[in-house]
Amino acid sequence: DGVGLLRTELAFLDSTGWPTEAEHARHLGPVLALLHGRIATVRLLDFGADKTPPFLAGTTQRGVHLLLQQPGALAAQLRAILRAATGTRLRILIPMVTEVSDVTRVRAAVREALEAVPRAEPPQLGAMIEVPVAAAIADQLAAEVEFFSFGTNDLTQYQLGLDRNRPGAAPSYHPGVLSLIAHTVAAARRHQVATEVCGEAASDAQVMPLLVGLGVDELSVGAARVSRVRDWVRRLDYGSLERLSNQALGAGGPGAVEALMGPWRRLLESGEAGSQGLQRS
Ligand code: PEP
Ligand code: MG
Repeated sequence: DGVGLLRTELAFLDSTGWPTEAEHARHLGPVLALLHGRIATVRLLDFGADKTPPFLAGTTQRGVHLLLQQPGALAAQLRAILRAATGTRLRILIPMVTEVSDVTRVRAAVREALEAVPRAEPPQLGAMIEVPVAAAIADQLAAEVEFFSFGTNDLTQYQLGLDRNRPGAAPSYHPGVLSLIAHTVAAARRHQVATEVCGEAASDAQVMPLLVGLGVDELSVGAARVSRVRDWVRRLDYGSLERLSNQALGAGGPGAVEALMGPWRRLLESGEAGSQGLQRS
């Protein structure tokens, strides 16, 4: 259906300075040209932490906060996106949002960029929900955006105090992570804001059914997993998943959710059972 997460920073991890508009255009052009008429969710540069280029070595800032300190770099990226995204259904995604002003300041910068790129359509603007505090202020954020995207990789590590790069999967099915998602989906619904999951959890057979049951609208997964996850979704029914996710929300920890989800994961991964089998389980 389109692209749910274009990580623009990955093209610049060896950069010696903030990317120029021309450098952005060189990378965005060939990708966005393939998305005519489709959703193109382009995330603003998410430098910092595990994605720190040499010129930012030692920075303690991340995501949108780094970018907002460099208004020229933000403006250059926005102009390049608006130009390259002509003909797509453009969504601009803001990484590591922690306060409402992150969104309002980016929106002001988008307005300025639109003046510089006259034929560009106004894009939808979305906030990544990947720091627990963003979920806590979901109502205030929902009043300012057109969509939310759950970054379950970071949301899980920050909620659980774990390092996402440590060996072994971080349990994004922990009830404490699921409750952040449930709270945010409820706020989004109150404001008619669409919700998407773009973290790895969207293609995990143990978590994806819970995300659907919690009411998220869209899943974004790695290209190689699209057909498998689409098949899983078609074999599930929402009523059962809603009940299942309520059970998971009431669990005391990740172990209990693992036990709850074991049969579902096995049935999905086996690729054998039809939807009847899943509904009975
Ligand atoms: C996430 O945190 O889940 C996410 C999608 O962003 P990234 O993996 O690029 O940090
Ligand atoms: Mg992230």
